[in-house]
Amino acid sequence: MRKELREQISRKLMGHPVSQETRLKLQLAAKKQWLNTDISEKLQKANIGRIPWNKGRTDLPPSGMAGRTHTIETRLKMSKSMKGRIPWTKGKTKENNNVIRKMAEDRMGEKHWNWKGGITARTRDLEKREWRIWRKQVFERDNYTCQKCNTVGWELHPHHIQNYSQYPELRYVVDNGVTLCKDCHYDFHSLFGQINNCLNQIKLFIYRKTITI
Ligand SMILES: [Zn+2]
Ligand SMILES: [Zn+2]
Repeated sequence: MRKELREQISRKLMGHPVSQETRLKLQLAAKKQWLNTDISEKLQKANIGRIPWNKGRTDLPPSGMAGRTHTIETRLKMSKSMKGRIPWTKGKTKENNNVIRKMAEDRMGEKHWNWKGGITARTRDLEKREWRIWRKQVFERDNYTCQKCNTVGWELHPHHIQNYSQYPELRYVVDNGVTLCKDCHYDFHSLFGQINNCLNQIKLFIYRKTITI
């Protein structure tokens, strides 16, 4: 290459340094490529023909949010505005408050997000074994590293991109799992709730390094 040309190029590069943020984005994009490849297609296919979990349900509370979702900014604002407030549940228990009791009952059994179905001990053992294998595969693929904060090897959880209870056919699909540390896993579910979780939420959660709650 001619000397002048080389100098010209290096001047150009110096004039437009790749920002820290861009570099981080590029790194993340390379690292999390599996999140962008065919997995969304695969997951979408698995979704075809599925009946939404709330279809025809009349026991659900009426919600002004029905059919709409908050943007992540709104969610963050909401969760920030909750800080420092005394929770309305303070001092109330299942024993002394009807609303709390009703809420606890609603989360029991099949209404619980982690409901594993009314299964026998033997099936449960088999499922547990399968789950352990799946968990190991997810952790290994992610190098035992939290995909949100890069914590390595400390209290890791395998998160199901599409819920365990709602998508039995995706329970042990490695692409449907993400390694998160305990804290990030907790943050994820506080932000996005415990049901109807999806790939977009995980993408938002992982790529938006600035999420604080
Ligand atoms: Zn999870
Ligand atoms: Zn983490």
